[in-house]
Amino acid sequence: MMKNAVFIYSDDFQTYKFSENHPFNQLRVSLSLSLLKESQAISENDIISPRIATDDELALIHDRAYIDAVKLAGNGMLGEDRASSYGLGTEDTPIFSNMHEASSLLVGGTLTAVDYVMTGKAKHALNLGGGLHHGFRGKASGFCIYNDSAVAIKYIQEKYKARVLYVDTDAHHGDGVQWAFYEDADVCTLSIHETGRYLFPGTGNVNERGQSDGYGYSFNIPIDAFTEDESFLEVYEKSLEKIAAFFKPDVIVTQNGADAHYYDPLTHLSTTMKVYEEIPKIAHKIAHQYCNGRWIAVGGGGYDIWRVVPRAWSLIWLEMNDMSLHSRNIPHKWINKWKDQSPVALPTKWDDEEGIYAPIPRKAEITEKNRKVLEQALYPLRHIGIDKSS
Ligand SMILES: [Zn+2]
Repeated sequence: MMKNAVFIYSDDFQTYKFSENHPFNQLRVSLSLSLLKESQAISENDIISPRIATDDELALIHDRAYIDAVKLAGNGMLGEDRASSYGLGTEDTPIFSNMHEASSLLVGGTLTAVDYVMTGKAKHALNLGGGLHHGFRGKASGFCIYNDSAVAIKYIQEKYKARVLYVDTDAHHGDGVQWAFYEDADVCTLSIHETGRYLFPGTGNVNERGQSDGYGYSFNIPIDAFTEDESFLEVYEKSLEKIAAFFKPDVIVTQNGADAHYYDPLTHLSTTMKVYEEIPKIAHKIAHQYCNGRWIAVGGGGYDIWRVVPRAWSLIWLEMNDMSLHSRNIPHKWINKWKDQSPVALPTKWDDEEGIYAPIPRKAEITEKNRKVLEQALYPLRHIGIDKSS
């Protein structure tokens, strides 16, 4: 029987750990699952163990020499010079023991999600351990070693001959995935992110539209720092609807970095939980409209792991299962379970309270600027109407 959705999970996701104080912390995946369990929104047979990606699968995207270097690094056998030429051992992406195995498991999780959806065993699949969108062909970057989404998309192309729409709402540009398919007209990428003017990785300009055969299949909407909910959602909804109508994908892969929230310590956007409730709704609608429901969602960034990520990521699962919350209160049991470990007061409601930040004086100007960027990004599609018939 076809399941509605599967949740890919292993406690071993936490072996992907750079150091105690590194901002990338996979405990957030466990916090999210715990919140779903305490909310009675998930059952044991919804949870599927990830497999480990093979070297051949990693090599769909990554250079063999890079994979070998990651293996050596994880065994403490890669010299400093060689390491830095592969982006390893940097402040962002330090070397840790068994890093190849830990990274292969995150990729395997996304491949497990793909197989469930593409063989029709589930309509939707969620791998919150994945979303490592900065990983390059031959180089680690921005907390990412292997690029699970890029490997998964290539795998979908080879094994299932399907055309993929990749939608990235992380606050950082989805550079690794974009460059992997920059010349490919069968993969369309859309990234909505804080402008690279002041934020890593600096790319994601509206004029990065693809190359040769892939020209016109890469979309970037760099939004202004301090962008708030309404403007974020306007840009997201309009671009996704228009691009889906243009590309007509067979399957959608969404990257759900939860670092555009006002509380996020690494970025400068000003969104709230409202955005994280709407993002999966629209992705879900598009998946049914164009892809017979086929939707694979992965995690990504998100560095307020206590207040933001568990709520944001739980909402994806709820949306996949057409579940609405019984209560807008966060279950006491979840709060009591984690409050001693959390350095901040845990949220008591699914929604943020009004006024978590002071009014942004440039709001109108930012909204207008974002509209202009949206228009520029979608200019090549100006003649395409949105198909509301199906
Ligand atoms: Zn990010």
